[in-house]
Amino acid sequence: MSAVLCERIEAIYQQVIARNPGEDEFHQAVKEVLESLGPVLVKYPEFSEQKIIERICEPERQIIFRVPWQDDRGEVHINRGFRVQFNSAIGPYKGGLRFHPSVYLGIIKFLGFEQVFKNALTGMPIGGGKGGSDFDPKGRSDDEVMRFCQSFMTELYRHLGEYCDVPAGDIGVGGREIGYLFGQYKRLTNRYESGVLTGKGIGWGGSLVRKEATGYGAVYFVREMLKARKSGLEGKSCVVSGSGNVAIYTIEKLQQLGAKVIACSDSHGVVIHERGIDLSLVKQLKEVERRRIADYATRHKDARYLAGGNIWEIPCQVAMPSATQNELNGRDAVALVKNGCIAVGEGANMPTTPEGVRVFLEAKIAFGPGKAANAGGVATSALEMQQNASRDSWTFAYTEKKLDEIMTRIHADTYATAEEFGASGNYVAGANIAGFINVANAMVALGLI
Ligand code: GLU
Repeated sequence: MSAVLCERIEAIYQQVIARNPGEDEFHQAVKEVLESLGPVLVKYPEFSEQKIIERICEPERQIIFRVPWQDDRGEVHINRGFRVQFNSAIGPYKGGLRFHPSVYLGIIKFLGFEQVFKNALTGMPIGGGKGGSDFDPKGRSDDEVMRFCQSFMTELYRHLGEYCDVPAGDIGVGGREIGYLFGQYKRLTNRYESGVLTGKGIGWGGSLVRKEATGYGAVYFVREMLKARKSGLEGKSCVVSGSGNVAIYTIEKLQQLGAKVIACSDSHGVVIHERGIDLSLVKQLKEVERRRIADYATRHKDARYLAGGNIWEIPCQVAMPSATQNELNGRDAVALVKNGCIAVGEGANMPTTPEGVRVFLEAKIAFGPGKAANAGGVATSALEMQQNASRDSWTFAYTEKKLDEIMTRIHADTYATAEEFGASGNYVAGANIAGFINVANAMVALGLI
């Protein structure tokens, strides 16, 4: 890359920092993409001339709103709601809602930015957006969660629509929350507009496999990375961080494909079960009882629980970070590589810090970045939208086959793109470049938008 080009990209990055002060996660996500784009501008000078990078880094629209609600004792709470409609060049804004106390504009913008490229990689007609709130659903009753969701949607509904913006779940937003949100949307608009939200329940517009899709898809991606190296998942020892929706279905598919999952975690600690994680117990604790993973060890005497433990210090061949952003740092990456890890697939969004990514790329292990590896969730959301639009519902086997084909294709595209742009084996570059080119081409075609 020429010095002038380097300077140009650095200047764009500095402008992003200056215009979005204090939004560290957003800066991190932008930097990672910009670092891949030098060779793209050489090949496509029109992207430079049309200032596509500058435009892509600025969301089309950002909505911030008050969410007042009452708890079961009648006390009033005020949370902040967000929806960042990042890019709609290739389809309606699409991306989840996150309810977690850490949520602020910088988190939603990093997630929305990632979503633009991820969605483009799926090959489906979906733009990128993300939303959420700093509301903490932990410890709240069903009634409280319902009142919160109704208040949240009372503002958000005016910004949504099946042709405009289609939210789904993310951390803290699952089937229960999507139900309350959809119910309130339906009531406010007096329309049964199934395609306005995805992750709906089976029986009221939901798609089979959507719940499993992010985890299953991430495992398919790792399977493909290993296949490209003439290896496979059979018999591999794996650790999966987290124990939420993504982690649970990552474990399920790993086990189905003959791998052995020896550890999972939550924000309080790590469970190690050398015999293999008992997934039905994890599902019972997390999906039914909504409890901590610490309880796993009280019900399985041969499992160990490490309060505050670091899951990345456990020797394994495959690691799947499936909890949250920046959960795996440079030191963790060094420990994994030293202990013999050969593949990492990101089920979460941006779980590996830039130092961690550097360690994996330098060690030349198979590293699948979230943008590519966890795209199965949103891809299956797009399949749900297809079913809604055609008033149809597909079987589990048919939908899962489609998911598998999409993940296999994303792997092939990111692999080939990395090759083409001189970054052989580097899926970070492959995913950033392939996603960017799809969106950039559409933006050029649509004029100055
Ligand atoms: N929150 C998921 C993601 O990060 C899914 C989004 C969706 O299905 O719209 O991709």
